[in-house]
Amino acid sequence: MQFAPTEEQLLVQRTARDFAERVLAPKAAARDVSGAFPEAELRELGRLGLLGVNVPEELGGAGAGVVAYSLALQELARIDASVAVSVSVTNMVAELITTQASPEIAKKWVPRLVSGDLIAGAFGLSEPEAGSDAGAMRTQAVKTSTGWRLTGTKQWITSGDRAGVIVVWATSGEPSAKHAGMSAFLVPGGAKGLSVSRLEEKMGLHGSSTAQLVLDGVEVPDDAVLGAVGKGFALAMMALDGGRIGIASQAVGIARGALEAAVRYATERQTFGQAIIKHQAVGNMLADAATWLEAAYLMTLRAAATKENKQPFSQHAAMAKLFATEHAWKICDIALQVHGGYGYVRDFPVERALRDVRVTRIYEGTSEIQRIVIARNLLRGQS
Ligand SMILES: Cc1cc2nc3c(=O)[nH]c(=O)nc-3n(C[C@H](O)[C@H](O)[C@H](O)COP(=O)(O)OP(=O)(O)OC[C@H]3O[C@@H](n4cnc5c(N)ncnc54)[C@H](O)[C@@H]3O)c2cc1C
Repeated sequence: MQFAPTEEQLLVQRTARDFAERVLAPKAAARDVSGAFPEAELRELGRLGLLGVNVPEELGGAGAGVVAYSLALQELARIDASVAVSVSVTNMVAELITTQASPEIAKKWVPRLVSGDLIAGAFGLSEPEAGSDAGAMRTQAVKTSTGWRLTGTKQWITSGDRAGVIVVWATSGEPSAKHAGMSAFLVPGGAKGLSVSRLEEKMGLHGSSTAQLVLDGVEVPDDAVLGAVGKGFALAMMALDGGRIGIASQAVGIARGALEAAVRYATERQTFGQAIIKHQAVGNMLADAATWLEAAYLMTLRAAATKENKQPFSQHAAMAKLFATEHAWKICDIALQVHGGYGYVRDFPVERALRDVRVTRIYEGTSEIQRIVIARNLLRGQS
């Protein structure tokens, strides 16, 4: 058992930390207020190899593996959670195309995606009536002589209005067939018949766009299908298993940023003649937060290492996501509490962290869904 990152993993982590502190930090609070999309930042992240950390070098990725990816995402989220979620989804889409498209199609899309040329990738699974219950989706895929025609509405799509390529799930079966008829399709951003019908106004993650997309007879060729026709549900679940490592990493990063700010503040702020960290009640809160953060960090890296070693990782990923996101929320709340009234205003970064971290308990499978996944795996004898 090894706990130390390799030289290569440390290099990727340092690259992300340097970029986050040098480029993201100065404008993160302003992006939270204005809602500006970090296009230039994403392009630069592409040039640094951070949009395809676990994508092979032949396709333009960094080829550095899942642990390096997790460490990089943590560093970005520590400073700006909005940028981190766009990076997380783009990495997930790049991996999906790499592993599930034909070699020609992978060559056509992946290098442009991971270099930042396409700005971002998007993952189009959820619908207005189908979130946790993805099998209830209604977007239809109808076979044509040259490919498929897609019609329906996708909801909550991260970077959906900016992405150069979107993976869209649709069903070619009867609605009653549930996930039996689902397939995944590559849809270019700006495709004919694709439009943005709504941009969500969110509690947090203001620098990440969340779009409702309408597909009105979008035509795609046969080779736009990822994996096999009709096997899209399993593909979505597999992608989400990996995506959960990304969201656990995002939660760990946000919590680390908030805890660092709280320790700094508690060391400087004086009440009753001493630094507040010396009041046992405050010290205890910070001690709990630091302990939870360490556990979340280790669980997340364990899930990442298990995936990297090509072992079954669904259980580790669900546990890491559940634990990391639930505790990151508590850590950010403690960080805010330690700041007193100053925690509740924008002068300090902890109120943004608390708003940003909340959604990690919801997307890529809510905490309730993670518990279902974990319990099902227990039933199958997996600890
Ligand atoms: C900011 C943001 C970004 C997102 N980005 C994307 C994206 O890029 N791509 C994408 O496809 N989706 C995205 N999503 C969608 C997200 O994955 C869903 O919101 C999530 O899966 C929950 O689905 P829902 O909102 O429909 O809630 P519902 O499924 O309606 O759930 C409502 C509540 O019921 C609970 N619940 C539901 N079923 C069960 C059950 N069987 N047992 C116990 N409890 C249950 C849930 O846990 C939740 O508390 C995003 C969401 C947000 C908010």
